[in-house]
Amino acid sequence: MLAVKNYKFWFCAGSQDLYGDAVLANVAAHTKEMVDKLNASGLLPYEVEWHPTLLTNELIRKTFNEANNDDTCAGIITWCHTFSPAKSWIIGLKELRKPLLHFHTQYNEEIPYETMDMDFMNENQAAHGDREYAHILTRMGIERKTIVGYWKDAEVQKKIGSWMRTAVGIVESSHIRVMRIADNMRNVAVTEGDKVEAQLKFGWEIDAYPVNEIAESVAAVSAADTNALVDEYYDKYQINLEGRDPEEFKKHVAVQAQIELGFERFLEEKNYQAIVTHFGDLGALQQLPGLAIQRLMEKGYGFGAEGDWKVAAMVRLMKVMTNGMKDAKGTSMLEDYTYNLVKGKEGIIQAHMLEICPSISEGPIEIKCQPLSMGNREDPARLVFQSKEGKGVATSLIDLGNRFRLIIQDVDCKKVEKPLPKLPTAINFWTPQPDFYTGTEAWLLAGGAHHTAFSYDLTAEQMGDWAAAMGIEAVFIDKDTTIRNFKKDLMLGDIFYSKR
Ligand code: MN
Repeated sequence: MLAVKNYKFWFCAGSQDLYGDAVLANVAAHTKEMVDKLNASGLLPYEVEWHPTLLTNELIRKTFNEANNDDTCAGIITWCHTFSPAKSWIIGLKELRKPLLHFHTQYNEEIPYETMDMDFMNENQAAHGDREYAHILTRMGIERKTIVGYWKDAEVQKKIGSWMRTAVGIVESSHIRVMRIADNMRNVAVTEGDKVEAQLKFGWEIDAYPVNEIAESVAAVSAADTNALVDEYYDKYQINLEGRDPEEFKKHVAVQAQIELGFERFLEEKNYQAIVTHFGDLGALQQLPGLAIQRLMEKGYGFGAEGDWKVAAMVRLMKVMTNGMKDAKGTSMLEDYTYNLVKGKEGIIQAHMLEICPSISEGPIEIKCQPLSMGNREDPARLVFQSKEGKGVATSLIDLGNRFRLIIQDVDCKKVEKPLPKLPTAINFWTPQPDFYTGTEAWLLAGGAHHTAFSYDLTAEQMGDWAAAMGIEAVFIDKDTTIRNFKKDLMLGDIFYSKR
């Protein structure tokens, strides 16, 4: 279901006509070669497209407006091979609405000691021309990514690839539509927020539908379609009856299969890419969507529990940003549930009642069917599994009343020490950086939520760059965090955003 456009990134070198045709021909030839090699590197998730060298005010303005109007352009990569007087860029930059990468590189890797003359210096002066260009970007307050390094260096190419995913998150954010089929859970603060401001900042459309409209879509799913999907589940997952009658168990599973199909059809028909539910507001639905929502998340839909539309949109955003990633380890909604406080083994069990995305799983996935112990519906079927080990990033977008803040935490995911035979939910287990105590204290001071949007496949840098492009506050909790400095970050944010 997760169809992201076949985006391209425009590569536009800057120069001027002072140097004569021979130099400009070299600039064009060099940049064409660079674009070809970047595309051949295998390290970029999207294609780079060469565009003619930008020489004048008129051409820069025209090119940037063409980029604005090209739906397949997810960003512009600029670099001044020679000197390019930056006043020529002002009008174009004022009008540019696409993500911008300032790729500060140089055609030659090494100084050509034997042959270098003044002609070479004039033709290869990015060190000088790019300073003029960066000056005007900074003076104009243009949000951009800057990557410094040699264009053939794989590490540099990986940085470009990483930024491309951020840029796609920036342009795709305004295509996220969240369907609310339940309001936020009563009396809960952190899942609330200003939906108008969210649309202004992020472009998200967040709309309510009566739960029974989607329940009708579920009821309309045929028995044949439902049974075919149940067969697929029984092929794909291990069935853990835990003493239940096999036929009765299968009927419970079928309810989830019908919900999956009915929800997906309704979301497709109405063009929504994320959804929230609420265990206390299920209308005619027989079960809280568990297995069904897990499968939809795996297909790329965003999800937030208990009406949490911010998490639903963030999960969708992070799925978009990781789309098509080779060897992706997964992205999911999670919830901080319970601690292990044993010295040296500190960590947080991440779970939810049901709704964890199987993309983060490792090892066998079981279907279990157990009471929820909350709400008033029949026992929902759900997928139960353990999650992968390794580094991940947990994010929480909160509304502080005068602004949104994105809290970005680096976490180390681990195996739980012992099996949890009685736990009927999928889990992850992590220790926040820099250590459990500091990381948790910082999260609490920042006002982070209990629901998070989590991914193994994105970095704090990518999420922070996305937040900067959205014009919102971001705070980072990572290996360098100390409480003293973190409090200063929060105080700086208070001052900075109180002026806006
Ligand atoms: Mn919850």
